[in-house]
Amino acid sequence: KNVNDTYGHHVGDQVIKFVADTLRANSRGDDVVGRMGGEEFCMILPGVDPDRSVAIAERIRLAIADSQPSSDVPDLRITASFGLSQIDKKVSDPPELVNRSDEGLYAAKESGRNKTVMWSKTVGKERAEVAEQNVAPEPAPEIAPKPPVAQPSPRATESTSDDLTGLGNRKWFLSSVNTALKDSRDDEQLIAVSSLDINSFKRVNGALGHVVGDKLLKRVSDEIQSAIEELKTERIDVKAARLANDEFGLLLEGFDNVSDVQAWMNALFNLMSERVDIEGHQIILNFSSGVSLFPRDADEARSLLQNATAARTESKRREGNNVVEFFSEEINRSSYKRLWLESQLHDALENGQFMLHYQPKTHVESGRIECMEALIRWSHPKVGDISPNEFISVAENTGFICNIGDWVLEEACIQGQKWRADGIQNLRVAVNLSNVQLRQPDIEERIVAILDKTGFPADLLELEITETAFLNDFDHAVNMVKSLRKRGVHFALDDFGTGYSSLNTLKELPFDSIKIDRSFIGDSVPSGADKEILGAIIKIAHTLEIPVVAEGVETKAQLALLKQMKCDAVQGYMFGRPAGPEKATEMLTNNAARRVPNAA
Ligand code: C2E
Ligand code: CA
Ligand code: CA
Repeated sequence: KNVNDTYGHHVGDQVIKFVADTLRANSRGDDVVGRMGGEEFCMILPGVDPDRSVAIAERIRLAIADSQPSSDVPDLRITASFGLSQIDKKVSDPPELVNRSDEGLYAAKESGRNKTVMWSKTVGKERAEVAEQNVAPEPAPEIAPKPPVAQPSPRATESTSDDLTGLGNRKWFLSSVNTALKDSRDDEQLIAVSSLDINSFKRVNGALGHVVGDKLLKRVSDEIQSAIEELKTERIDVKAARLANDEFGLLLEGFDNVSDVQAWMNALFNLMSERVDIEGHQIILNFSSGVSLFPRDADEARSLLQNATAARTESKRREGNNVVEFFSEEINRSSYKRLWLESQLHDALENGQFMLHYQPKTHVESGRIECMEALIRWSHPKVGDISPNEFISVAENTGFICNIGDWVLEEACIQGQKWRADGIQNLRVAVNLSNVQLRQPDIEERIVAILDKTGFPADLLELEITETAFLNDFDHAVNMVKSLRKRGVHFALDDFGTGYSSLNTLKELPFDSIKIDRSFIGDSVPSGADKEILGAIIKIAHTLEIPVVAEGVETKAQLALLKQMKCDAVQGYMFGRPAGPEKATEMLTNNAARRVPNAA
């Protein structure tokens, strides 16, 4: 963390790489070396006894301490701490083993770092004791926020408060939760643990720098503290901590039921500013949060926090603002699944498991296929087909979508060239662009490079983006769209009507088309409010002289209504399901209207 904060992420990455290489260089054929996330690694050493495993860990520890990572920073030295645990007759279940290694690791860190600690009962017990000592002495009655300032700290390295915000840190938080659990265990009082983070934080930090990022964190922390004060009642006691980066933890006590917890969280978000001014920058404040409950979800501080974090990730995945997600078994399953998917994506791209299907967009009046939308398909060798709805968001979270996106664009352009070579004229090819891709500073260069490489004409390429692309970095997105449009690239506004739907965006950025989200077309025929909205969108778009495409058209009745509303183009199962290149080519050659020259 120190390296990251001092020298920036790219040096942090070099350090991570150095540690990984050292671990690998010191492992044997059957050993497993993995990265747990962040700066945490794990190794599995089959068939060694405790002494030997300590010896191996020590060897690696010294190798790290004695060599210098090849990085951009001269003389950078780093050290590593190791926690070990051993499979024995009593424990063989992975989570428990990992837990014990973790306890060993924390013991190593707490006793001055650069150490190796093998888990033992005493390590486990000591940890529990240390945790207890660190609990703030009394829930003092005074109003001021009470981070754990004056703790009897047995060792100098053991800080329990966060310097930047003055809140308690992760360690303090976990020990507070443990104490609460202890107090409540007898009467099974409800305890809630919430993990929350700031939706735009990474971008703020990236775009405006750490100084602004830090000020934002301080501001948020102050607001959380004053909201807690404001919402205080005789029974309700909420404690806040800063857990990591922009991640805050809340410990909620004195609630009768889940809906009271939900109501409190909502009240918290209502009290928070919607936008703040940090050094002249207007930053919109939105949060993702997850909650897990004792006794329902877990009965241990770490697990409660872990579950709350999984729920927060789920809340983030839904891209909701200030949505409070409660932990559930389903989230548990889905967070495992997402981890698994994440681990498979690399191989999928490398081993050619992805392919593109194409779905026609058909002009209503002429019946001519004007464009083919490329939709990615993943056929996994073990589990079969995996829907883009499942893996795209996983790839977005890790940033790997940028690699996938480059591949999709190139593949679609190559197909577009084939169609041109087959004599299919003036057919546009549409490619979906994720917001994560859009945020790359060099997105435009990447697109242009792929066009150059494949020779596909810019004015036959259509990029589908959603309104949310403009939410966070409006200027970057607008400039990118404007500049690519100058080159002739078409832009379609995808899933229109589902999110933010600012008419201003439409006015400022004349899109080449708007795609009305499938949800408005509905399962049968649009009626009621959907029908009204549909009609209104088409009218407004036409006022701005933007053609409208309706998605998800499955029936004649739907088509009839859309025709009546003067919708320009349609896409849906009725006109063709997404199909592989061969079938898609057939669709094109069978499309009578395409054969009429200049039919559109
Ligand atoms: P989308 O861009 O809104 O694509 C339309 C989705 O609706 C596709 O699902 C398509 O198969 C489906 N669809 C088309 N016509 C009908 C219909 O008549 N009825 C029904 N029920 N569904 C219809 P698909 O292929 O599963 O893709 C889901 C989403 O995944 C896409 O939504 C898009 O957001 C994303 N996606 C797909 N391919 C890519 C890609 O290459 N890159 C990126 N970034 N996202 C992609
Ligand atoms: Ca699309
Ligand atoms: Ca869509």
